[in-house]
Amino acid sequence: MLDYRAHQRKLLPALATSYALMFAQNQLVESMHEVQSASGDVDERVQRELEARAAGLKAAQTAHATATIQTCREACGGAGYLAMNRLPQLKADTDVFTTFEGDNTVLLQLVGKGLLTDYRDEFGSLDTLAPSPSAPGSSPAPPSSASPVGR
Ligand SMILES: Cc1cc2nc3c(=O)[nH]c(=O)nc-3n(C[C@H](O)[C@H](O)[C@H](O)COP(=O)(O)OP(=O)(O)OC[C@H]3O[C@@H](n4cnc5c(N)ncnc54)[C@H](O)[C@@H]3O)c2cc1C
Repeated sequence: MLDYRAHQRKLLPALATSYALMFAQNQLVESMHEVQSASGDVDERVQRELEARAAGLKAAQTAHATATIQTCREACGGAGYLAMNRLPQLKADTDVFTTFEGDNTVLLQLVGKGLLTDYRDEFGSLDTLAPSPSAPGSSPAPPSSASPVGR
C-alpha cells in the first residue's frame, strides 16, 4: 500500500504527528510528576499552565487519532472495513475520546482562556498607543490614553 505516493502523503505526516504527540505527552507526564512531587505549596501559575497543556494535548491527540484511523481505513480500501484488520474496532474505541474526559471544543476554549489570561498578565499594563519615551522627538502620552488590552 505504501508504494502509492498518495498514501505516503496521507500516512507519513500522520505517523510523524503521532510521534510528535507522543513526545509531547511524555514531556507533559514528566512535568506533572515534577509539579506533584515538589515539596511545599504548588505554584498556581505552573499548575494552570500544566492543566492547559493537558487539555490542549488531549484535544489534539484524540482529534488526530480519529482522523488518522479513518484515513488508514480508507487507505486499505474495503479490507479496512474487515474486523480481522482491527481498524473498525480501533475506530469504535477511540471515537468517543473526542468527547469524554472533556469535550474537545470545550477543552480548547479552556486553552484559549488560559493563553489570554497569561497575555493579559504579561502585557495588560502596556500602553501600546503611547510613543516610546526614548524615541527622538516623542512627546508624553496624553493622560486619557488607556491600554487596549485592559479594556
Ligand atoms: C462512553 C462515555 C463514558 C463516560 N465516562 C464517564 C465517567 O466515567 N465519569 C464521568 O464523570 N463522566 C463520564 N462521561 C461523561 C463525559 O465526561 C461527558 O460526556 C463529556 O464531558 C461531555 O459532556 P456532555 O456529554 O455533557 O456534552 P456537552 O458538554 O453538553 O456538549 C455537547 C455539545 O455542546 C458543545 N458545547 C458544550 N459547551 C460548549 C460551549 N461552552 N461552547 C461551545 N460549544 C459547547 C460541545 O462541543 C458538544 O458538541 C462519559 C461519556 C461517555 C460518552
